[in-house]
Amino acid sequence: MKQIQMNMPLVEMDGDEMTRILWQMIKDELLLPFIDLKTEYYDLGLEHRDETDDAVTTEAAEAIRKYGVGVKCATITPNLARMEEYKLKKLYKSPNATIRAILDGTVFRTPILVKGIRPCVSNWKKPVTIARHAYGDVYKNTEMRIADKGCAKLVFEKEDGTKSEETIFQFEGPGIVQGMYNLDSSITGFARSCFAYALDQKKDLWFASKDTISKIYDGQFKEIFQKVYDEEYREQFEAAGITYFYTLIDDAVARIMKSEGGMIWACKNYDGDVFSDMLSSAFGSLAMMTSVLVSPEGFYEYEAAHGTVQRHYYKHLAGEETSTNSVATIFAWSGALRKRGELDGNEDLCRFADALEAAVIRTIEGGTMTGDLVRITELKDVTKVNSLEFIQAVRKELESAL
Ligand code: NAP
Ligand code: MG
Repeated sequence: MKQIQMNMPLVEMDGDEMTRILWQMIKDELLLPFIDLKTEYYDLGLEHRDETDDAVTTEAAEAIRKYGVGVKCATITPNLARMEEYKLKKLYKSPNATIRAILDGTVFRTPILVKGIRPCVSNWKKPVTIARHAYGDVYKNTEMRIADKGCAKLVFEKEDGTKSEETIFQFEGPGIVQGMYNLDSSITGFARSCFAYALDQKKDLWFASKDTISKIYDGQFKEIFQKVYDEEYREQFEAAGITYFYTLIDDAVARIMKSEGGMIWACKNYDGDVFSDMLSSAFGSLAMMTSVLVSPEGFYEYEAAHGTVQRHYYKHLAGEETSTNSVATIFAWSGALRKRGELDGNEDLCRFADALEAAVIRTIEGGTMTGDLVRITELKDVTKVNSLEFIQAVRKELESAL
């Protein structure tokens, strides 16, 4: 069979533990036999991050800015236990946080639906994609315990020394107070990423906040979204036949629960923290969830939503069989290859990405799956396979489709 050619490389970011093992299997079984795979390789495995004082992570992010599309394996975010385990020089930041900061991007997560694994919410027929604004608000707050009587104030002092001041509360006894902020530039970038991704996916975009209560703070989010929509995206949305819809966060939650799904739901930072966990558990499994970082300038980084599956890796190291789900990692590759194909006008590559995803779905719907799915499926005759067997089963499906 003739291999599919690539014009431009993908930025490939290798990772850690069990997902690093899956990464190689996916390349060997599902990519290299079919594609003349061009990648610029960055090893984000923890050892190599330590060797390079984490410069490799920054270089990988810069490469995504250069080539436009990256695909990333799950990586360890070091904590004290990992520092000990890997004898690290220091506690590095999470690679995802480093890359997100350089690309100024927003993460979109979408469940992968297959027959036989039903979402808890029975009326959800299509996946709900969630986007979380990952900057500021309560995650960068400043808070204080109030011990006594006194006045808490919000003060802004300009560089020239002039001040504006608001009373927060006149305390008559002990309590608490909190200050937080966000930036117009960050909210604008978030809005652009959301509108751009909605167009990319041809899906409606929902955004919600609580501007009836927080008239200035949440009101600013609402206004910026509306302004970006009107000035930059309205025409494109109308041409694509999709809509932008703003509502209050409690109304959005109620509507999402009653909907069929299929929309992109943009959330403020805290809402996104809470509702992304709600959605992923309602749809079944983190291993059946895609994740893509989209920058306001239109750079894309694809990854799996789960971590490095440490417990399975230790079993693997001990020579025991593992049944680790590679679906999210396969979809990271297919997502990146499709985007590469779209950007380069390479239709063969786009078709291959579609065929690969379809082969994964057919494999599972045909009853061949890893242990995590065997536990939750409604299908009757299922075969539990190990990590490699699953990927090989997908390869069989893929070969017969191509
Ligand atoms: P995890 O790797 O997501 O795994 C947690 C548990 O979820 C696993 O033990 C497993 O349950 C189940 N699971 C997750 N993915 C699975 C898969 N593909 N197939 C089958 N089961 C799966 O989270 P963690 O163990 O808390 O974190 C491990 C490391 O990942 C940490 O060092 C963390 O820093 C890192 N992490 C990285 C990312 C990222 O790079 N995006 C995200 C999150 C965490 P059972 O053990 O019950 O089978
Ligand atoms: Mg959370």
